[in-house]
Amino acid sequence: MTIELPMAQRDMMFQILSNSEPLSEDKRQEVLDSPVFGTVFTDHMVDICWSEKGGWHRPRVQPYGPIPLDPAAAVLHYGQEIFEGIKAYRHDDGSIWTFRPDQNALRMQRSAKRMAMPELPVDYFIQALRELIAVDGDWVPSAAETSLYIRPFMFAKEAFLGVRPAKKVAFYVIASPAGPYFGGAVDPVSIWLSTTYRRAAKGGTGGAKTGGNYAASLLAQTEAAEHGCHQVLFLDSETGTNIEELGGMNVVLVYKDGTVVTPKSDTILAGITRDSVLKLAEERGHAIERRDVGIDEWREGSASGDIVEAFACGTAATVVPIGQLKTPDFTIGSEDATPGELTMSLRKELLDIQHGRIPDVHQWMMRLDQ
Ligand SMILES: *Cc1c(COP(=O)(O)O)cnc(C)c1O
Repeated sequence: MTIELPMAQRDMMFQILSNSEPLSEDKRQEVLDSPVFGTVFTDHMVDICWSEKGGWHRPRVQPYGPIPLDPAAAVLHYGQEIFEGIKAYRHDDGSIWTFRPDQNALRMQRSAKRMAMPELPVDYFIQALRELIAVDGDWVPSAAETSLYIRPFMFAKEAFLGVRPAKKVAFYVIASPAGPYFGGAVDPVSIWLSTTYRRAAKGGTGGAKTGGNYAASLLAQTEAAEHGCHQVLFLDSETGTNIEELGGMNVVLVYKDGTVVTPKSDTILAGITRDSVLKLAEERGHAIERRDVGIDEWREGSASGDIVEAFACGTAATVVPIGQLKTPDFTIGSEDATPGELTMSLRKELLDIQHGRIPDVHQWMMRLDQ
């Protein structure tokens, strides 16, 4: 008698279609020596189909390249799309690891649910990462603070202009070598507070990692750049008084007494980096508060000296000190602020775990190359 495993526990049989024209070793090394975020991609990509009738099927690794798409594909019209961001790290012994991939897989399921898309089983998500690393492992750089940025994404492929959840969906994984996100040194960033635009509303899609949230943030991001800032900070849409997050990073404040505070709301994307650094802070004995944070609280706390540090965090940039917050009415901090002590120390601990320089006591790391 054979025991039928539920689908999610059975490995998918990937078809491997090798790239017959991979980038030469020399050229690849050139890219790995000075990676520019999100510009050069590895030789292969993962491609899995989903249909209402057939479920997940035809898993493949194939040469990286353009995706054939019907002009009527729903994603191009109605934006039914979600994505993830995760990194692969090369440790000193050459092995390749990733950080909390189960969390990315579960978040992608939550995003899928919100966007009326099929949920990819966690095992398939992780297997897809492994299959890509099996063919493109040489693309994981080894220099300090470098990584391979992996971008899983899913979109509505069905050619149909009617408005309803698509019955055909594609899941892909692409990858791109990454250096330090904002250039070399950890310079504090300047943030612009948008009082004009909102990123997300209660009951909306702010908590899902979907492209539309980014599209909605771009004009505010442009406004930020016009004011000489790197990133934009959004306020809640209901009251316009509480801070939420940046276009693609969460925000954390540190009080003089060591308390670490971060905004809590369904409209904020639940970052895995934030969750991890707050855990590290908690283990050091810091009190952690997840609650509404008023922009006035930040302003007054900074003025009185109660709030001593602020940082942004996300997979791509890791942990970045916020030097200055500019608003139409006032400015907090200054352009030449020095990075906060706790900020830099949490950043170091996280990077040390990810790069295998200290023991992984939380079992956050998963080996990908075996
Ligand atoms: C991805 C993302 C983050 C950061 O999440 P991590 O899991 O830490 O990478 C924060 N905000 C938004 C809007 C995001 O899309």
